[in-house]
Amino acid sequence: MIDLHSHSTFSDGSLTPEALARKAAEIGLTAMALTDHDCTSGVPRFMAACASHGIEGIPGVEISADVKKGTLHVLGYLIEVGHESLESVLVRIRQGREIRNREILDKLQRLGMSLSWEDVASLADEEVVGRPHFAQALKAKGYVKSKEDAFERYLAKGKPAYADRFRLSPQDSIAALHAAGGLAVLAHPFTLDADRKGLREIVAGLKEAGLDGVEAYYSEHSPEQTQQYVAVARDLDLVAVGGSDFHGDANPAIRLGRGFGSLNVPDDVVTELRRRWRRKRGERAR
Ligand SMILES: [Zn+2]
Ligand SMILES: [Zn+2]
Repeated sequence: MIDLHSHSTFSDGSLTPEALARKAAEIGLTAMALTDHDCTSGVPRFMAACASHGIEGIPGVEISADVKKGTLHVLGYLIEVGHESLESVLVRIRQGREIRNREILDKLQRLGMSLSWEDVASLADEEVVGRPHFAQALKAKGYVKSKEDAFERYLAKGKPAYADRFRLSPQDSIAALHAAGGLAVLAHPFTLDADRKGLREIVAGLKEAGLDGVEAYYSEHSPEQTQQYVAVARDLDLVAVGGSDFHGDANPAIRLGRGFGSLNVPDDVVTELRRRWRRKRGERAR
């Protein structure tokens, strides 16, 4: 049993890298990847912990890319951790949310509203501050009738207090992962919200940009979806990989290695992933 998609306390998971590796050993995983959101800082600790348990650790990351419809995440595997160009891009993505929040606040203040950062942050509690908290603060101050009203008048895309957040395009995400010597894989294709034909077109387009694989096996994929994504990968000569997207107690319904219970990522996925990685490295060296 293997699992190539998991999150630690370095992004939004509840287990440390060491606790993740320990859990993997307990349930008998032979290979596992850590793929924290926009962050590789947990990988060195994860790799060391995997080695101590005799598990094949795979360094990874998950980048949230900019896309018009749905959600597009790109998984990076076998990346060189600490690689300068990748790290600088990840830092920029992480700072993007903060910068965006400051811009929204600034715009609201310039529109004449008396609103402080504390007014908004106090509503977020432990959560990461986002637009819903601004909406709540505007309502609390009596500037809008409801949260929906706040979005309609100020916060929605195209409205006077809207600010965009920095994200890489899918193509640039792939390039950043390649620059760090890794492979780029389209995560959980179902979140693209595309029909069969549309999905194939998107994946074919990403392959043009160098995509190496598709995450076909995933906790939330139905057997039909898994079949469809495996077929797309095969047709386009991409590697079909998979994982649970384990977050620990942050999403307790999903189990490491088994997802909702029936996830079963074939062991030879790792062999194929490494084979492609070696081939690419050879091509780059020439
Ligand atoms: Zn994701
Ligand atoms: Zn994930």
